[in-house]
Amino acid sequence: CGIVGYVGEKQAQTVVMEGLRRLEYRGYDSAGIALVAGDAIASDKRAGKLANLDKALAETPLPPSTTGIGHTRWATHGAPNDRNAHPHHGRRSRLALVHNGIIENFAEIRAELEADGHDLLSETDTEVAAHLIERELVAGADLTTAMQSACRRLEGAFTLVAVDCEDSSRVVAARRSSPLVVGLGEGENFVGSDVSAFIGHTREAMELGQDQVVTITREGVEVTGFDGSPSEGRRYHVDWDLSA
Ligand code: GLU
Repeated sequence: CGIVGYVGEKQAQTVVMEGLRRLEYRGYDSAGIALVAGDAIASDKRAGKLANLDKALAETPLPPSTTGIGHTRWATHGAPNDRNAHPHHGRRSRLALVHNGIIENFAEIRAELEADGHDLLSETDTEVAAHLIERELVAGADLTTAMQSACRRLEGAFTLVAVDCEDSSRVVAARRSSPLVVGLGEGENFVGSDVSAFIGHTREAMELGQDQVVTITREGVEVTGFDGSPSEGRRYHVDWDLSA
């Protein structure tokens, strides 16, 4: 029920775990994290409280990384266990994807992927999106284009956030009928389910519209429609009193 994405100069694990902690109030049954480290995805995911994930990360630390995503899950498809927790990956584990919401047409896409030889490892509706996006990457698309084309196939309500281990410079997110905001920093940028995901780092935010894809890098933010056409979000300043 919560999503965080980060690219910048800080340790992504610290920023992502802190964001997930601030999103805990939304409720969840599992949590997970994925980082781009060297040219591989490093990830961990656990059913239960964030403390379970914290403990796993303390026992088996992930490598340093400044690009990462995190998730708290409120299960809709598949039991709340380690396997169904997010992130999910494609066939070659080149991609890590987290998702809040429901992909309504997942059964049809799953059947198509399985007919094409893909093994799906979880019972989630999410995993089909990971396979679709990764298939586009393997065919030569960049993560932004791959996300756009996968989103055109998906029905339902979703916030998606993904990283590609072959491109640590970007985190790509998309939304349809599900919340997603961008946090605008200096030499770093964020995405989150709501501003509490990044409020400890920046108060400059951007609200996205329906059916939009956003690419964040250290240097900037680019918004498009699912069709790839350039678009824009609405910038605003968050003037919450953090002590309240
Ligand atoms: N439908 C997805 C699942 O069951 C995402 C649930 C969520 O919004 O956390 O894994």
